[in-house]
Amino acid sequence: MYVVVKKYRLLIFIILVIVILGTTIFLLFPRIKLTNKEANYGSEYKPNISVYNIISNLSKYSKVTNNVDTNRLGNYNVNVKFKYLFISFNRNYDVEVVDKVEPVINIEGSEIGIACPGKEYVEEGYIASDDYDGDITDKVKVEIGDDKIIYSVSDSSENNYKTERFIEYKDETVPVITLNGNDTIYVYIGNSYKELGYVALDNCDGDITDKVEVIGGVDTSKVGTYKITYTVTDNSGNSSSVERTVIVRKKTVYNTYGDGIVYLTFDDGPSERTREILNILDDEGIKATFFVCGANEYTKRAYNSGHTIALHSNTHEYSYIYVSGSNFFNDLATIENKVYNVIGIRPKIIRFPGGSSNTISRHYSYGIMSYLTNEVENRGYTYFDWNVDSNDAGSDVYNSDNIYANVINHLSHSKTNIVLMHDSGGHTATVAALRNIIKTAKGYGYSFKSIDESTPVVHHGVNN
Ligand code: ZN
Repeated sequence: MYVVVKKYRLLIFIILVIVILGTTIFLLFPRIKLTNKEANYGSEYKPNISVYNIISNLSKYSKVTNNVDTNRLGNYNVNVKFKYLFISFNRNYDVEVVDKVEPVINIEGSEIGIACPGKEYVEEGYIASDDYDGDITDKVKVEIGDDKIIYSVSDSSENNYKTERFIEYKDETVPVITLNGNDTIYVYIGNSYKELGYVALDNCDGDITDKVEVIGGVDTSKVGTYKITYTVTDNSGNSSSVERTVIVRKKTVYNTYGDGIVYLTFDDGPSERTREILNILDDEGIKATFFVCGANEYTKRAYNSGHTIALHSNTHEYSYIYVSGSNFFNDLATIENKVYNVIGIRPKIIRFPGGSSNTISRHYSYGIMSYLTNEVENRGYTYFDWNVDSNDAGSDVYNSDNIYANVINHLSHSKTNIVLMHDSGGHTATVAALRNIIKTAKGYGYSFKSIDESTPVVHHGVNN
């Protein structure tokens, strides 16, 4: 036995040494590990490298470098150089930048969509966005179910997202009736009233004009205010109605009918004369009417004192306003807005520059006064001409005696006296005559009023 042992002891010794040495090297040799081989797109990435053996952590003897760019998807390299005592090595790892974030779909409009009974829901819109792909709205798949719509989308890294919108089939919206022409129509007694028509539209049923019921009528042989009611009901039972007012009124024949009252009217203001005119009117305690071409503090004072502010023109340029209906109404809207900004109301009483009988408009548009005299009334305005002319814009512009006589000699107790005068800078003679006109007319038993909706209208004949 001893011999055997002796014979093999060298070998046994060698084996023993190898085993001990091997085990020692095995236990002491450093192990290396990278635990995060995926990096998330857009996030910061730090390689998680650990180097250790059975005795201790040896990470501090390693130098780690990498080229990972988390702003781009793809494969990158992490390199580890290790050196400790007599051991050194170099190791490379693959790291992939990946997108694991789901895209998002944002539903626009109402959470519960409303669709007309028996019809398709009209999509209110959606937006799909992804942290990597950006806007992917065009990749959204829309599935229409019985009572909901399912929206789903996948981004280029196959991350999925799904959301829903519930749909209710019902109609709770009332139809809309739009009247052709104005809500208020003026008709002179004896003329005929013509229904201008209407259109009824429903969100679900479309054009339902043929279902409109019209109730009410107009007797144009009697002065009065008439109401016409238009009612319509859609297929789901929603009703709406609108009303039109038709006012039948008297028209005075120029010079032959009236209330015997004097209506002083001043065109073209406000001006340097307005304050003086207002002072005289106030002193005499009477009201007048201003057909204005602008609006300022005196316009406001006149309005607050109970005078009527009516519209004349913004430009007073015949060569502009009488070229076309649109020019005329643009000009009228401008002066109307200016007045509104100062006194807060939109006057509906107007006077045509040059009067409705003017012939100068023929130079600019044949027949325009025939059109405008009708159209202004269709649009709810009332125009006034005059039947007593002071001639203060004519040959008597500087002659206060003549201005006085022109007015006093043409007043009549059997007509509505609409007196034309002017309020502009040069009209000192008008101002000079004004007080005497008022005093004399009062002496003859006349009373004074400002024009309003109840004033009998005085119209010239139309000559173009
Ligand atoms: Zn004028």
